[in-house]
Amino acid sequence: MTCHFLPLKLSHFILVTTLVLTSIADAQQSGRPPFQHYYVQGNVHMFEPANTNGNPGALVGDDGILLIDSHFDFSVEDLVASLGEVSDQEINFVVNTHVHPDHIGGNNKLAAYGVTILAHDSVRLQMLEDIRIPRRGGSYIPAPDPAARPVITYSEAISFHLNGEEVRVFLAPPAHTGGDSFVYFMGSDVLHLGDVFRTNMYPIIDKHNGGSFHGMIEAMGLAIGMAGPNTKVIPGHGAGPSDREGMIIYQQLLFTMRDRVKALIEEGMSVEDIIAAEPMADHDERYGGIPSWTSVDVIPIIYEELLE
Ligand SMILES: [Zn+2]
Repeated sequence: MTCHFLPLKLSHFILVTTLVLTSIADAQQSGRPPFQHYYVQGNVHMFEPANTNGNPGALVGDDGILLIDSHFDFSVEDLVASLGEVSDQEINFVVNTHVHPDHIGGNNKLAAYGVTILAHDSVRLQMLEDIRIPRRGGSYIPAPDPAARPVITYSEAISFHLNGEEVRVFLAPPAHTGGDSFVYFMGSDVLHLGDVFRTNMYPIIDKHNGGSFHGMIEAMGLAIGMAGPNTKVIPGHGAGPSDREGMIIYQQLLFTMRDRVKALIEEGMSVEDIIAAEPMADHDERYGGIPSWTSVDVIPIIYEELLE
């Protein structure tokens, strides 16, 4: 299962292309590294990209690196360079938490270096066709190269046993997509929730790929139920690690959105009326600042599910 035949030494990967050096230089000029490193807890690290896209996590240790999400194709070298600053071990495995390109985009390059890719069954199926991205009203990217597909898939749950701990990967209720993996690093007491949990914007419900707003409330309840007072949580998007309290705040946001839209439906409003009424205006400063997905995008999804 490890990549003895094509070992990926991080220091080698860094030198692969001058493009890497160029992109690092660009990011340094903007004052932020391509990936901000956070030591989370135990053997787990988080890497927050400067562009607010998906947050990879990593379990590091003498047995090698287990990476959670591979970010974009164009930025995976930067991610590997950041990993190289915390460990000189090989990347042995990547788990894709779901199908979006800021979580699977680096698969192709990592697979070429012998990294074994794992995801839920449905992620592999979704990667056989063009992938729809929900932001900005929806768009498609071409189906990923066959080499980028997960070589190990699971239906309910699967565990890694490495670096002295068990890492449990399991299917969340349909939430952000229909194939969201939660990852629990049991020894380190760290959760990586993929894009089911984000601290910087309203929930994205990817209906095309099987997501559900009601399911997102359920999934957050499941994660909150698993967490103890010392559990750290890596959000799919947002600055730095969070915790049980942060998840409760986010679940409360979901309840607030649901209850406010429901109340306006009961007043007889159409979805257009509800959007015009700006029922989440008091939360927009914190959660509505990323133009590609605002309350205007998510309210119709909540509305539809409440009418079902
Ligand atoms: Zn996503």
